[in-house]
Amino acid sequence: MMLDLRALTDFPARVTLEDDASRLDVNVPGVAVTGIARVEMDIARSENVYYCTGSVVCAAHLECSRCLEPYPVTLQGEIDFSIVEAAGSAEVRRDELPDTAVVVPFGTSPVDITDRVREAILLEIPLKPLCRETCRGLCPYCGTNRNEQQCNCTMETTDPRWDGLRDLLK
Ligand SMILES: [Zn+2]
Ligand SMILES: [Zn+2]
Repeated sequence: MMLDLRALTDFPARVTLEDDASRLDVNVPGVAVTGIARVEMDIARSENVYYCTGSVVCAAHLECSRCLEPYPVTLQGEIDFSIVEAAGSAEVRRDELPDTAVVVPFGTSPVDITDRVREAILLEIPLKPLCRETCRGLCPYCGTNRNEQQCNCTMETTDPRWDGLRDLLK
């Protein structure tokens, strides 16, 4: 996703960017971003530093961690990074900047902000996605999706407190 700094004349500036979500390269197993990713941010300028804050929104399908079915979500991430224009390597001490700063040679435009947008989306992906709080998951015995169908194993107890007793009976 490219930001055309030269097109901005008045600061703070309000910018809206759109791009195919697939071009953000969100390579996470069980996650498929779809459609258009939309970034809205305010850009404040202080000499050679541009502070970008706002949000990114995109649609995605996440694989439910219980039933393994994909389900649709809207991911909304927070944009918060700065772009630093450097005339030469001596002018900017990289170690004094936050990791998220995008350092570009002075006058660079457009600036590629894809990495920052991708990171904002990645932070919004839950570790254990659930299609719904009450998802009943897959039957551990026959693999039936219990949201859709009752299987014949449902009388089997999965209460771990009975495991010891069951072992004794075997
Ligand atoms: Zn589920
Ligand atoms: Zn079953």
